[in-house]
Amino acid sequence: MLTSLALLVVIVIDQLRTDELFRVKLNPAGIGKLINQGVFYDDAHHTQFFNMTCPGHVAISTGAEPGLHGIMLNDDWDPKSEKPVYCVEDDTHHWIQAAADEKDQNLGTSAKRILTTTLGDEVKMLWPNESKIFAFGFKDRSAIALGGHLADGAYWFAPKSNVWTTSDAYLKSNTLPKWVSEFNEKKYAVAKSLGRSYASSTQSVEDVTALAEAAFDNENLGLHKKPDILWVSYSAHDVVGHSEGDASPALEKILEAEDKSIARLIGKIQNKLQKKKFLVVLTGDHGAGINQALYPAIPGGKMKEHQIEEKLNECLTKEGIQSHHRKAAVQLHSGHFYLANDIKDKQNAQQKTKYCLQTEFEGIWNAYTREEILSGAIPTTSWLKNLISSYYPSRGADVISVFKPYWNSHDDVVVSHETSYDYDSWVPLALWWPGVIKKTIHRRTQVTSLAPTLARLLKTRRPSGAMADYLTEVLDESK
Ligand SMILES: [Zn+2]
Repeated sequence: MLTSLALLVVIVIDQLRTDELFRVKLNPAGIGKLINQGVFYDDAHHTQFFNMTCPGHVAISTGAEPGLHGIMLNDDWDPKSEKPVYCVEDDTHHWIQAAADEKDQNLGTSAKRILTTTLGDEVKMLWPNESKIFAFGFKDRSAIALGGHLADGAYWFAPKSNVWTTSDAYLKSNTLPKWVSEFNEKKYAVAKSLGRSYASSTQSVEDVTALAEAAFDNENLGLHKKPDILWVSYSAHDVVGHSEGDASPALEKILEAEDKSIARLIGKIQNKLQKKKFLVVLTGDHGAGINQALYPAIPGGKMKEHQIEEKLNECLTKEGIQSHHRKAAVQLHSGHFYLANDIKDKQNAQQKTKYCLQTEFEGIWNAYTREEILSGAIPTTSWLKNLISSYYPSRGADVISVFKPYWNSHDDVVVSHETSYDYDSWVPLALWWPGVIKKTIHRRTQVTSLAPTLARLLKTRRPSGAMADYLTEVLDESK
């Protein structure tokens, strides 16, 4: 029974591919509770074409596709400056008592570039003073993508300053709440001593949890007139997955820490809220590929990012396409190519770029131009079906290359994720609440169904760009 929910907790594990859960013994009070005792969709997939952190988190909170919410990749492209823009970049805001870290730009961050509402935004519009929304993530983009535009708080770790911080987009007072300052005082030395390895440590998992717990206590989450939301995102899984691989003992150790942390968090909430109703969700922002070094006979590979750009531009020069102020085509990342502003006949240059990508690169299955994508002139194969809905017109690339399965656009990590194939899109989707009757659903399900389903449970509007069907089993079970 889920009428009058007091608290909704949504936990996101960065780069958690569902099959990782099938090979380990899960804590029956933690992840095991959510997967084995709740409503578990074991074939849930992200539907953005480019699977990575920023669009993945945005899909969870908004239920929308990149073609509407605007976050196609971890970076966008600014056509005027011809430079990348970080997905949550916002130079009208700054981090509080900490230095912004992304790409050494001393810029602030906010949800400004996310162009649809999150579930929390809809809650705050309805009940601005009767409900609280808090989001926590190790990465700023994770916390911001979940918290959205109107969260009461979104907090993340500032690696340059070794403290947890937020943006003045969320905290107008410019002073961290006492419970955050106290947390920083307690944790600063540990974070500093771990340095760069903090991001890949079990300590960071524990600390994200501890900060979420501090918010739960100090902000009285679950005790307001209307439902509160607590979003929690763990990033160490992604960092270790990239560096050690998807089937490594190091990654299992991180999963164990997440499991333990989640058990602690659920236990604490249950203890305090007693008979009040709460619901816990577990999902991931994207899956991951494989460690190709282990399987040399398996088709797949890694391209060298800078060589793609070089080779492509050599080919374009041969085809008579040139720019007077920079390379004719620049790759933002993950096969997104932007042509220089001074190229006059864009359509011709796009066709030539497509031709060069098709003919020069072993890892590229095919390439599509902006015009082809926007006019729907691409094949209707199942593996291309999300390309059109993932393309935001004013931010999209001139040409997008589609990789072959188990191929990546870069070779600087052991395992990566960026494609639309099942290994990159497959994440767990589990919902547990006290009294739920366990059920495993094998139907292929979209992660974008989560936000509208939660909106229905909370009796709010859907987020503004959420188009997917409800998770009917959850609504039926929770009558
Ligand atoms: Zn990643």
